[in-house]
Amino acid sequence: MSEQQRDKQPQAVSTQQIHHPYRAPAGWEAVPVGVYKASTVLFKNTADLRTPRPRDGHSYRYGLHGTPTSYTLAARLATLEHAEHCLLVPSGLAAVTLVSLGLLRPGDEVLVPDNVYGQNRYLSESFLPQFGITHRFYDPLDAAGFKALLVPQTKLVWLEAAGSITLEFPDLIGLLQACKSHGVLTAMDNTWGAGLAFNAFEIAPQSHAGLGCDIVMQALTKYPSGGADVLMGSVCTRDLALHERLNHAHEHLGYGLGQNDVELVLRGLPTLELRYRAQDACTRALAAWMQARPEVARVLHPALPGSPGHEHWLQTSSAGAACLFSVVFKPRYGQREVDAFVDALQLFGIGYSWAGPMSLAVPYDMSRSRALGLPYAEGQIVRFAIGLEAEADLRADLERALSVLA
Ligand SMILES: *Cc1c(COP(=O)(O)O)cnc(C)c1O
Repeated sequence: MSEQQRDKQPQAVSTQQIHHPYRAPAGWEAVPVGVYKASTVLFKNTADLRTPRPRDGHSYRYGLHGTPTSYTLAARLATLEHAEHCLLVPSGLAAVTLVSLGLLRPGDEVLVPDNVYGQNRYLSESFLPQFGITHRFYDPLDAAGFKALLVPQTKLVWLEAAGSITLEFPDLIGLLQACKSHGVLTAMDNTWGAGLAFNAFEIAPQSHAGLGCDIVMQALTKYPSGGADVLMGSVCTRDLALHERLNHAHEHLGYGLGQNDVELVLRGLPTLELRYRAQDACTRALAAWMQARPEVARVLHPALPGSPGHEHWLQTSSAGAACLFSVVFKPRYGQREVDAFVDALQLFGIGYSWAGPMSLAVPYDMSRSRALGLPYAEGQIVRFAIGLEAEADLRADLERALSVLA
C-alpha cells in the first residue's frame, strides 16, 4: 500500500502508532552508541527477504543474531583483545561453554588447569562426559608435566592467568610451546587480564614471537561492565575458520543478548583502563600491607615476589594485574575465626563476582583443591576483590576487622 492510499484510510490508534510515517532525520551523532532493540528485523520486500544474509556481523536478519548495538560492542571487544572476530554470549560461563561445546567431539579430551574457574571445572566434570568428552586436570606451573599429558585425543587446552582464587600465574610460555608443538587448540579465560594485562594472542612477543592462544574468552560481567549489574561474555579469535566453527555452535545454542545490557557494557569500556589501573594499584598496596600482618601466613597475588607463578607473571604480564588477592591465614585461625573476621568487615561485601565498584571478601574452602595438589589448604583462605573505594578506608576496615582475631 502506498503512503498516499494509507493516508486516506482512517486507522485505529494502534495501527497508526505501529505504522507511523514519521522518520527522525538522519545525521544524529553523539558519543554513546544508540540502543537498537529487535526480535524482528524488517526486510524491504520479498526479494530482500530471499537474499541470503550470512551471520558474519555485516548484515541483519534477526535480532537474535545481533543489532547495530551488539555489533558495535563485538567490534570494540575484538580490538580490546587484539582479535579479529568476537562473539557475544549472555554470561562468562556461556562463553566457556560455547568454546568447549563448540570445539569438542565425542572421544576428544580437554585439559583444564587444576586452579581453573570453578564452573569450568564443573562443566568438564559433570556436563561434557554426557557427550563422550573426557578431561584431565594439569598443574599450570609445571609445563614439563603438562607436556607429558598431551595425547592424540587432546583437542583443547584451557588456560587461565591468573588462576581463580589461588591466583597462580601459569607458565604460559612453556604451556603454549607444548601446545603448539602438539598442534592442539588453546583457549584462554582472560577475565583477569581483561585484554589489558597482556595480549593473549601474542604472549611475550619480544622473546617468543608468534606464541599465543587461539581463542580468548572473557566474562564481561567483570571489568568491561565494571558496574556489578550485568552478566555477559565474549569469545574472540583471529582465525576465521575457528571463528566460523564457534559461530556455528553459537547459532544453534540460541545465545541472545538484551541490548540494554549491551549498552551498559559499552558504557563501561571508556573507563575500563582507568578502573583497571586504579584497582590494580590499590590491590597491590593492600596485598602488600596484608602480607606484613602477623595473622597472615601468605598473600597470593602474582605481582608479589614469592607468590606462585610470580616469575611467569614477570615474563608475560608486567603491564598489570587484576583487583584480586587471596590471604592464607595462619593455621591457628580456624573457619570460625576467619568467618568472624569476614563478618566484621564493613566496607567489603560478601558475595561472588568482582571488578565492580564495591570491594568484596569471600572465604573459600580449598580442601577440594588439595586433592589436586594445591598447597594452601593448611590455612583458611579469603579472596579479596578490591573495588573503587579509597585505599585508606579499605585498609582501616581490614585493620579493624583483623582485631577480632586477637
Ligand atoms: C566470573 C568468571 C566467569 C564467569 O562469568 P559469569 O558472567 O559470572 O558467568 C568465568 N571465568 C572467570 C575467571 C570468572 O571470574
